[in-house]
Amino acid sequence: MAKAKPQPGDHIPELVESLLVELGEDPSRQGLKGTPDRVSRALRELTDGYGMSVSQVISGAVFDQDYDEMVLVKDIPFYSLCEHHMLPFFGSCHVGYLPKGRVVGLSKIPRVVGVFAHRLQLQERLTREIAEALNGALEPKGVGVVVEARHLCMEMRGVQKPGGQMITSCMLGTFRKDPRTRAEFLDLVRRN
Ligand SMILES: [Zn+2]
Repeated sequence: MAKAKPQPGDHIPELVESLLVELGEDPSRQGLKGTPDRVSRALRELTDGYGMSVSQVISGAVFDQDYDEMVLVKDIPFYSLCEHHMLPFFGSCHVGYLPKGRVVGLSKIPRVVGVFAHRLQLQERLTREIAEALNGALEPKGVGVVVEARHLCMEMRGVQKPGGQMITSCMLGTFRKDPRTRAEFLDLVRRN
């Protein structure tokens, strides 16, 4: 059977094999035989956000609704790769917004987080991209996003400071302008 046309991904196994050699390994030993293909599939999965857009992910789930209280989705787990070391950073994300006539199905918010987490990222940019995407899609009165994460590039190497959390936030609209809205959001995020 003819081989499928080369896809961009087809080079990753070869590159991983070279990397194993560079690291002093023998890629032909039994335990490593399937590693280049496995690493390739894992990397493709962990970066599949490049092939997704927010409009795709939330299409059909944005509804006109006269609800003007804060909507909050807390403790959304996420896993991403830092763009400086391609090592994991992971934690949880809290997303709130104040609707202005439009709401989105709650299950879609974690998917929006996934679109941006599954790329090479910086925590600061991830936080902002989630907030701006929801702001663009829902045109709400405001959006707040808080991300808490552990970075393995800091814990496993370099300063080796285990367990430290990095916290970032992005506030747009009323979440930025109105201290009461921001305080309500942060209070709900902190509450157990
Ligand atoms: Zn890093």
